[in-house]
Amino acid sequence: MSIRVTDACIGCGICLQQCPFGAIELKENMAVISDSCTLCGSCESVCPVQAIQIEREKQAAVNLRDYQDVWVFGEQRNGEINSVVYELIGEGRKLADKLGEQLCVALIGSQLSAAADDLLQYGVNKVYLVDEHELSVYNDESYTSVMVDLINSYQPSIILLGATTIGRSLGPRVAARIKTGLTADCTGLDIDQETQNLLQTRPAFGGNIMATIVCKNNRPQMATVRPRVMNAASPINGFQGKVQQHDFDTSELTMKTRVLEVIEEMTELIKIEEADIIVSGGRGVGTPGNFKLIADLAQALGGAVGASRAAVDNGWIPYAHQVGQTGKTVGPKIYIACGISGAVQHLVGMKSSDVIIAINKDPEAPIFNHATFGLVGDLNQIIPEMIKKIKQGRIKEAAATSE
Ligand code: FAD
Ligand code: SF4
Ligand code: SF4
Repeated sequence: MSIRVTDACIGCGICLQQCPFGAIELKENMAVISDSCTLCGSCESVCPVQAIQIEREKQAAVNLRDYQDVWVFGEQRNGEINSVVYELIGEGRKLADKLGEQLCVALIGSQLSAAADDLLQYGVNKVYLVDEHELSVYNDESYTSVMVDLINSYQPSIILLGATTIGRSLGPRVAARIKTGLTADCTGLDIDQETQNLLQTRPAFGGNIMATIVCKNNRPQMATVRPRVMNAASPINGFQGKVQQHDFDTSELTMKTRVLEVIEEMTELIKIEEADIIVSGGRGVGTPGNFKLIADLAQALGGAVGASRAAVDNGWIPYAHQVGQTGKTVGPKIYIACGISGAVQHLVGMKSSDVIIAINKDPEAPIFNHATFGLVGDLNQIIPEMIKKIKQGRIKEAAATSE
């Protein structure tokens, strides 16, 4: 693809505001596009005189009928299947039934035959298994090569991946390699009854609208799906599926990166995706040391620690705790936002919480528009007070039960 500005440009400047990457400037009354351009295409349609032209590569037409079956990427670590895989199987089963096709799982790694057999119990027709010692640890390059080989060999029509760190990394690489589309972070999937295309719905513009995206002309149709959005599949008694071993010659892999060591992160005692109570800290916490207050409140409530991106970017807490558009989507019973302003990118990750409690010294902070309960004040005073009351409550409770 390439982009150019033709002589038709009248220097109106409209495209400058449209470019999200600041890649356009006006020079001598004419738009000039810099190397920062990502070819996103946003400027093309706003130019009133069609002076911006993006030349796109023509792709050979794909025969859509050559592709069938719904696939789920079987994300695993050390043989333990990620919980999102069961959610994708639950959703994938519905899509496969609507299409009258099979539901399959692509399982890549080492020593996975037990995991493959186990997956069959969840209503999976076929597990494509690539089981090689060299694939024991996830690596973008090797897993992409294996997935591409599997896709070229069996031609699925749909591939679903979890919107996890691995899924978000693998999905776009595979899609780019096989020249198809990918919709990231879907929250809803369905089949268009007329065209049999996959309808991929996801929040757009910070969650203010829901966009449904269709990949009409290419196959497979690829989507990453946010964890904990779909219902997980349950085992089906007596379901008959089969494991198909797929040979992949790992000696052909040429990799620029090598995993030397995997270091488990020890700080995440309770996973935020699974917690019923989350206490999250934002920039208002002020210092890394002050984050202990957030952890103390979480501990007093038996909950997990979350964070805004500002807190993560400041290095106060690891990324694994980040809630929001580029972090995790959570849905606890109680979410306590401390020193968090309530930016849309944070809200999309936590607004489905049952009860939201906001602590903020600014009464005008947008978070209060979404909070069930709001406490206006300094978190340094409010949180210790809350911890004291919770502990006192526990002591009273214990005294009452011992009487
Ligand atoms: P601020 O907005 O600075 O708010 C701090 C708040 O603390 C203020 O409201 C202030 O009144 C309050 N405060 C200060 N001191 C105290 C005190 N002593 N006691 C009580 N209150 C106090 N953000 C995310 O969180 N998650 C994401 O996944 C995410 N993804 C993003 C993706 C993109 C593409 C972009 C552009 C942005 C993203 N952001 C994300 C960033 C987001 O826009 C905000 O910048 C961020 O959420 C702000 O974090 P904050 O609320 O902690 O900080
Ligand atoms: Fe900017 Fe996108 Fe236009 Fe490139 S294509 S100049 S990145 S708006
Ligand atoms: Fe030129 Fe079109 Fe950009 Fe206006 S919008 S500056 S006419 S390229």
